[in-house]
Amino acid sequence: MLEAKNISKSYENTKVLKDVSLSIERGKICALIGPSGTGKTTLLKILAFLEQPDSGSVTIDGITYKYPLEKSQKVEAPWPKVTVVFQQLFLWPHLTLLQNITLPLSARGLDDNPPRLQELLKLFDMNHFVYRYPNQASIGQRQRAALVRALLLNPEYLLLDEITSSLDIEQTAIILSQLKKLGSQGIGILTITHLLQFAHEAADKVIFMAGGEIVEEGGPNILLTPKHERLSQFLSVLKTVS
Ligand code: ADP
Repeated sequence: MLEAKNISKSYENTKVLKDVSLSIERGKICALIGPSGTGKTTLLKILAFLEQPDSGSVTIDGITYKYPLEKSQKVEAPWPKVTVVFQQLFLWPHLTLLQNITLPLSARGLDDNPPRLQELLKLFDMNHFVYRYPNQASIGQRQRAALVRALLLNPEYLLLDEITSSLDIEQTAIILSQLKKLGSQGIGILTITHLLQFAHEAADKVIFMAGGEIVEEGGPNILLTPKHERLSQFLSVLKTVS
């Protein structure tokens, strides 16, 4: 289990997260929704140990880090056990997409052409563009490369920040069905998404954040029968633009 408890975080005197608690269980998909600027990405970074909160704690498989950390305490990001795919993707510009995908494998002394690589390239229809450099590829093609790079590391927890935002309907459907499959194989997934239909169909848990707080959470049915006015408003805005 990857669990955050009572997380608060400020940037330049502005509170971005206020007493947020959530947990990600292996084999379950959690969809995090909410307006932009509400602290969703910051929470993802904290769960991946890439950012430290001001207070609260994060526990990964029984090991708890309580913030602020003791001076002598160091956090080693549990990568690739916890792997994040950010919206910015972080691809190396001087390497082809394929090299970007395989570099973390070779850096870890692993086979950089495992059968799973060929499977994923085929599944995501990538063979015709993997030899391109990131600046020669579309954002959707780069998103697929970043996701395949993450999947090849066999993460136990996968944290995704709106990774289908630039994909067409068909590619989005393939990725979403893959995520469901990964969930059923025991990976714990937290995905920031604006795809309400996906959240409703695939998520075990939906969390709605606004103003740095969790306003409502529960099963996917909260998307059909929200209790809070703020969530109703958010859903009706999303429905009018999607
Ligand atoms: P969301 O993912 O919900 O859009 P973010 O977590 O990216 O929200 O950002 C929440 C708020 O924190 C925003 O107002 C953003 O400008 C601010 N913020 C995020 N990262 C930093 C940073 N490194 N320094 C200062 N402010 C930041």
